[in-house]
Amino acid sequence: MAEEIPARNIAGNAAKFRPSPLPGHTKPNTPNQDIAWDWNSLKNVNNRKQVTCDFCGKTTTGGITRAKRHQMGVRGDCGSFPKCLDDVKEALKAALLNKKK
Ligand SMILES: [Zn+2]
Repeated sequence: MAEEIPARNIAGNAAKFRPSPLPGHTKPNTPNQDIAWDWNSLKNVNNRKQVTCDFCGKTTTGGITRAKRHQMGVRGDCGSFPKCLDDVKEALKAALLNKKK
């Protein structure tokens, strides 16, 4: 049986690679918010649909869910994919699985 690693622990590893928010961007700071916000920022604080990827600066317009798909490479690759992003992908996937439980 594979050992289950809590999403937050993986996110702890991934957090080491956390890029700084892009100039003019902000990160939401709400309780229990999606861990994906660690790697995504808002162009406009009042528009949570418009999410900018901290890694490549691409802005998607489908909210954090769409942004996650972008970073996981499900739909549209993340332009500047650093090696470390594998950790981020794992963290996002783990978080998704935890939500489904
Ligand atoms: Zn990206």
